Amino acid sequence: MNKGHIPERTCRSCGRKGPRSVLLRFYVTEGRLIEDLQGTLPGRGIYCCNESTCRERLAKSKKVLKAG
Ligand SMILES: [Zn+2]
Repeated sequence: MNKGHIPERTCRSCGRKGPRSVLLRFYVTEGRLIEDLQGTLPGRGIYCCNESTCRERLAKSKKVLKAG
């Protein structure tokens, strides 16, 4: 297998891929997007670039917010 491979996460806003360490983790509760600073909050994680444009687009995505 591919040892040493860094697992990638996909930004739900723009679709760009990157290592988990550079993407922010969020989760959705009651239709609101919450930043998961510790990476320990329950629910399915949503990853997003650490860029205001991406974060704003994600926060407006009905599709993402519905999933929670
Ligand atoms: Zn992005």
